[in-house]
Amino acid sequence: MSDTDLPFLPFALPDITDAEIAAVTEALRSGWVTTGPRARAFEQAFTDYLGGNGVHSIAVNSATAGLHLALEALGLGPGDEVIAPTLTFTATVEVVRYLGADPVLVDVDPVTLNIDPEAIRAAITPRTRAIMPVHYGGLACNMDAILAIVREHGLKVVEDAAHALPSTWQGTLVGQLQSDITVFSFYANKTITTGEGGMAVTRDPKLAERMRVMRLHGMNRDAFERFSSKTPAWYYEVVAPGFKYNLTDTAAALGLVQLQRLPQFVQRRQYLAQRYHAQLASLPLVLPATAPAGDVHAWHLYVVRLAPSACMGRDALIQALSDRGIGTSVHYVPLHHHPYWRDRYQLTPEQFPQADAAYQAMLSLPLFTAMQDAEQDRIIAALHELLG
Ligand SMILES: *Cc1c(COP(=O)(O)O)cnc(C)c1O
Repeated sequence: MSDTDLPFLPFALPDITDAEIAAVTEALRSGWVTTGPRARAFEQAFTDYLGGNGVHSIAVNSATAGLHLALEALGLGPGDEVIAPTLTFTATVEVVRYLGADPVLVDVDPVTLNIDPEAIRAAITPRTRAIMPVHYGGLACNMDAILAIVREHGLKVVEDAAHALPSTWQGTLVGQLQSDITVFSFYANKTITTGEGGMAVTRDPKLAERMRVMRLHGMNRDAFERFSSKTPAWYYEVVAPGFKYNLTDTAAALGLVQLQRLPQFVQRRQYLAQRYHAQLASLPLVLPATAPAGDVHAWHLYVVRLAPSACMGRDALIQALSDRGIGTSVHYVPLHHHPYWRDRYQLTPEQFPQADAAYQAMLSLPLFTAMQDAEQDRIIAALHELLG
């Protein structure tokens, strides 16, 4: 059988079993489909997963919503600047614009592809209010360096942890570090999924309360609280013009099962990443940085870069893999290439030499827990055939 007769191997697929289907079915049959007991249980399970320690978990219908709530709770507004990497998804910084503030994009470290602490320092102005590190691909940023800058300049930190469940920095789980708010994503291709969903995490009870209220129309009681409490169900007070960012119980039911399966997901991702590492080492590829000894890499993405000595360019390799029925992706077209960010802030590739060089050479290989070893073998064989 030739490669073209094989079924298309997608870049990513969710890992949904009968357990998730049963949990969602039960939620649907319960009669309570919007935010309720399952969303609460999911928040509690998430806090427990992170090890408690005073953490508040606030379930939302996307990480984008969580990032918006985070910056809103911190009081960001027009005139404020937020420093973020250019090598990220637009969601990281679109939320800065929602509030009328300005993102200041900076370059990344050429080895880790995480935000470069020296670039952060160079970008600080009297208007800087916050830093948004992104744990690229699931490898934690150098949080010691970032938190040192934050303390020195009196700034806030909101971690975009969309890739970082679970990642650790010097043995501490992302979500338990000394930042203000951390936001995880449960989008379809993330390390656990609720279809769409996210979780904002903070140890500050005031920030937690503000995010809870703003998550649901600025009301001081959600529907389930009103339904289940002794004060009249019809009474609530609107204290701010909030948003509609709550997570449904059907989504939370899915999330509860996925979170239980996370330890086995992590193992599978680590196993697949190690196989790529071992079997691609001889090819003209720059393989992704691994976590320092003792730390956990979530391996949301496996991003390789073509070495200058490779016989073909990135675009040709993506096409050749696609011709062999293998899906790949690119993370990311840096924000400074997108018309909105480029034009609004007059950005040029020369301002971001590391992110730009990485972008020209990079592609993300399939890495998902439902991928079979034989499917990964097909990818590895195709890369050897094309680049070896
Ligand atoms: C997926 C992702 C987001 C957005 O997550 P949603 O849950 O889809 O809103 C934000 N930042 C990064 C880096 C992401 O990869």
